[in-house]
Amino acid sequence: MKLILLGPPAAGKGTQAELIAERYSLAHISTGDMLRAEIASGTELGRAAKSIIDEGNLVPDDIINAMVAKRILQDDCANGFLLDGYPRTIPQAEALAEAADIGAVIDIEVDSESIIARVAKRRICPVCGHTQSVEPGEEEICAKCGAQLIQRADDTEERMRHRLEVYHASTAPLISFYEERGLIAPIDGGMSIPEVSEQIFAFIDGKFRPEEENE
Ligand code: AMP
Repeated sequence: MKLILLGPPAAGKGTQAELIAERYSLAHISTGDMLRAEIASGTELGRAAKSIIDEGNLVPDDIINAMVAKRILQDDCANGFLLDGYPRTIPQAEALAEAADIGAVIDIEVDSESIIARVAKRRICPVCGHTQSVEPGEEEICAKCGAQLIQRADDTEERMRHRLEVYHASTAPLISFYEERGLIAPIDGGMSIPEVSEQIFAFIDGKFRPEEENE
């Protein structure tokens, strides 16, 4: 099973990707996480990508395409994979079509004002990369590993408004691209985390495991 998770920034792609990858034993490939790991390790790629990411712009297609093409050949992708945050442009989708046969594109839909409201509460764990939402006054500790959470430099309201513009200009055209190929599954991302997962699992089970459903 080779899946793509599409949707605007802070739609819940990372959170849902963790749950989907676990349930279906898929490799979770987040290009944002891969780039943040490059920055944390101080690699040449990380140094080149840091200011682009902090400003909310997109890293050049050829860099990202090469990174993903290499990643999907690793052993843990043999049972399938889930792409989170890739592709983000039409040239990336075209490069991916050459490299892999995608079975479905799950499009998590959330309106822009809900995203702006969410981002103020969004924190990331600098140790394990887990993303979670914190309420005002709540202790900002990672639920997975206990480390102190931080806010991403690209998660301010101003940066998020810019990232949404970039999303609408460069990434939203992928919806028609994949609609034309009969691959898009629209999911209402405005609900709670378990309610969104339930919609996604129902779609995947219906599309990829219909015989098991009837047993
Ligand atoms: P994310 O964690 O998916 O929100 O990604 C964080 C940032 O990494 C994005 O705002 C981009 O700057 C960069 N990035 C992640 N994935 C891609 C991609 N597929 N193409 C270009 N830039 C990307």
